Amino acid sequence: ANQLEIRNLYASIEGGEQILKGVNLVVPRGQVHAIMGPNGAGKSTLGKIIAGDPSYTIEKGEILVDGENIMEMEPDERARKGLFLAFQYPVEVPGVTNANFLRLALQARKGEEVSVMEFYNKLQKALEVLEWDESILTRYLNDGFSGGEKKRNEILQLMVLEPTYAILDETDSGLDIDALKVVAKGVNAMRSPNFAALIITHYQRLLNYIIPDVVHVMVDGRIVTSGGPELALKLEAEGYEWVKELVVTGS
Ligand code: ADP
Ligand code: MG
Ligand code: MG
Repeated sequence: ANQLEIRNLYASIEGGEQILKGVNLVVPRGQVHAIMGPNGAGKSTLGKIIAGDPSYTIEKGEILVDGENIMEMEPDERARKGLFLAFQYPVEVPGVTNANFLRLALQARKGEEVSVMEFYNKLQKALEVLEWDESILTRYLNDGFSGGEKKRNEILQLMVLEPTYAILDETDSGLDIDALKVVAKGVNAMRSPNFAALIITHYQRLLNYIIPDVVHVMVDGRIVTSGGPELALKLEAEGYEWVKELVVTGS
């Protein structure tokens, strides 16, 4: 099956509290899904666990990429399987230019040498979509980047690495409208039958620019309801109280 699947996932902080309490989720290629939910629901935890963050204990469940269980794989191996998690890349790497880092990351992702020509073609296309000039490539990775530049660079990485499954945690309430539009441009440019995205967001406004195929709502470590884009609008208008009640009634 060409999909990212989370099956009955239970996880806790190492030596601590249980955060994920039976997450089930299927994101097929060709679709964009959003996960919304109140603060503390476990959304970012789910993203980090998919990325292979070792600070959580998986108690039960599976994560399958194209039918293959990735639970035992290191983060770089997960990347080779086509997963992209923006936050898995280093925040600052002094002495490594942005372009060099991107080329190394692309080679790591593909598991083979990438020609300079092929690499620059991809870069050019991405820079065009993001309306960015080439000067960003010779700067050191994230060194002295503004918040907006970091965000744009994250999306540049997404576009150059061309993952099959991208997980973007956009809960960061510091995102201004320009940054949201950059994220949307990149994701919308990537849309294809062979690409899927899972966008984690607390706010509906990003979904004005990226229309998701499916919206899931996470409360207290579980997906409690799913629907179309209209679900995001309902949450924006009515808040999260009514979904919290879905947990209480157990439906
Ligand atoms: P969300 O992204 O939905 O706001 P999080 O996944 O960030 O939720 O957090 C879910 C819960 O787990 C919160 O109560 C948070 O405080 C707790 N939590 C997450 N990661 C850690 C951690 N590394 N150490 C301690 N508590 C954590
Ligand atoms: Mg939070
Ligand atoms: Mg979060």
